[in-house]
Amino acid sequence: MTQPSVPFLPFVRPEIDEETIQGVVDVLRSGWITTGPQNQAFEAALSGFCGGRPVRTFNSGTATLEIGLRIAGVGPGDEVITTPASWVATSNVVYEVGATPVFVDIDPRTRNIDLDRIEAAITPRTKAIIPVYLAGLPVDMDRLYEIARAHRLRVIEDAAQAFGSTWNGERIGKLGDLVSFSFHANKNLTSIEGGALVLNDEAEAVLAQKYRLQGITRTGFDGMDCDVLGGKYNLTDVAARVGLGQLKHLERFTARRRELARAYFAGFADGAAVGLGVGLPVADFANSNWHMFQITLPLEKLDIDRAGFMAELKERGIGSGVHYPAIHLFTLYRQRGFGPGMFPHAERFGATTVTLPLFTQMTGDDVARVCGAVNEICERHGR
Ligand SMILES: *Cc1c(COP(=O)(O)O)cnc(C)c1O
Repeated sequence: MTQPSVPFLPFVRPEIDEETIQGVVDVLRSGWITTGPQNQAFEAALSGFCGGRPVRTFNSGTATLEIGLRIAGVGPGDEVITTPASWVATSNVVYEVGATPVFVDIDPRTRNIDLDRIEAAITPRTKAIIPVYLAGLPVDMDRLYEIARAHRLRVIEDAAQAFGSTWNGERIGKLGDLVSFSFHANKNLTSIEGGALVLNDEAEAVLAQKYRLQGITRTGFDGMDCDVLGGKYNLTDVAARVGLGQLKHLERFTARRRELARAYFAGFADGAAVGLGVGLPVADFANSNWHMFQITLPLEKLDIDRAGFMAELKERGIGSGVHYPAIHLFTLYRQRGFGPGMFPHAERFGATTVTLPLFTQMTGDDVARVCGAVNEICERHGR
């Protein structure tokens, strides 16, 4: 076998600095490795990042979202409006709290929930909306909250991919109702696994702490009560230390991702790919944190399918991913009454999208190599 001339380029890779690695070692040696001082520091820093709003950490973005729903009072009999173009966690948590997801199709341009279709999906049982900012691109936040206010709906923002994104110059998390972030290894800011919920007031923060740890309240030296049914969703101090170390670099991470996204647009300008009909994301360099760079394939004009296209990229030493197949076509969802044809834009996006490499340590040459490969594959397999 011949060695490839360039190392394999994965579609994502976290950047962890030496100071953070040393910080983790210090936490491990400190004698306090689960939720403690590092979490308090992480929550305080996140709160500062979100304009001083209360923030509580969790061990995953999924737990964060689920507890957001519980705090909003969503439960059995309620409907929650959301998008079928997301990671399946977004709607799984709705079932998890006993409520029913109601999907609304996406705007094929932004790939986010089509706000113009939300009002038609509202019923007397609708309790909340979960918008998702796919790849870090927010929806029109003014319009979203106008709809929510008009219909007295809670909003639990699934901002898992939007840490560092903004709306009109204000950070996502600083505005709005409940805002849920994920710090999974692939997200723009990672704590390996983890998440954080931005809350409206101290009462909600206390409730978040209860849901996070068995519904427990401690008082004095020996007092303990349990008055709500909570779970086990607390973040370790090792993880919180990783998140704290990342936070320092967030502005640079976001700026770098925006630069790389610009390089992608330059690399695709006038190439065979766009000529054939490859779809590019919305070129937003003000609001999006460029969590991902996702293209869509004109499969009807290619003599290979998406898996074949991804295999061709892999042969050229380039990793890629799929984010995401339409949720309502999964077996669990079909068993609950959803099926093909219900949300055609999300279905088409889910069947044709490919996520290209984008992470902070990539170079401009890496981007040029990916664009060159995509153009070449389109030239070779276009018909
Ligand atoms: C990552 C992600 C989640 C879940 O976060 P985890 O930390 O993996 O549990 C939820 N929604 C979206 C849109 C995500 O990208």
